[in-house]
Amino acid sequence: MLNPTKPFFSIPSFFRALIQIAKSFFVKATTYTFPCQLDRLADLEIDLLKNAGIEGVILDLDNTIVSEDDRYTSPGAETWIKQAKLQNLKFFILSNGKRQERAKAWSNRLEIPIINPARKPFPFAFRQALTSMQLEPKQVVVIGDSRHTDILGAWLVGCPSIQVATLPHPFRWWEKLFGKRVQTPYPSGHELWDNEFLCEKNSELKK
Ligand SMILES: [Mg+2]
Repeated sequence: MLNPTKPFFSIPSFFRALIQIAKSFFVKATTYTFPCQLDRLADLEIDLLKNAGIEGVILDLDNTIVSEDDRYTSPGAETWIKQAKLQNLKFFILSNGKRQERAKAWSNRLEIPIINPARKPFPFAFRQALTSMQLEPKQVVVIGDSRHTDILGAWLVGCPSIQVATLPHPFRWWEKLFGKRVQTPYPSGHELWDNEFLCEKNSELKK
């Protein structure tokens, strides 16, 4: 039975709860020592992830590793992935891309399992990836170029995230209107690599 002299809800307890929530946000924000934004994947120091207790990476494909129109790859990304694997980081790719054969080819090339279409930011594919990697959300960083898919999805499942600049690609109508709100443009003058993988695939097809 409730004590009639003690109110069920009091203003001080309300403020205490608010302070607790604010503290949890503050602690969460300072837990991770790696940056939350970068120009490209290869700029990320693997040691920073390891030191923060990260054991897995959920990667986006389009405009993070390879441009949507297959023109460019992110400089040094493949080497970075190989080095991270050597340091025992687990990987998983979540791609919303519509060309499933292409996504599968990249999954094979990088030797990383993939879910495509992943329907980000919905959390289902993120949870499948976490289960497959046998890791907790706080042990996995999500790296991608889009706030409304990669970063929002990471937040929904409780993973930390890193947003990279979006590789140059033909903008859709909505990207022309809202692109800068959800993506960071690739810095002009920064190095870009031609996508050799597509050339290899084409030359194989021509044989
Ligand atoms: Mg993307």
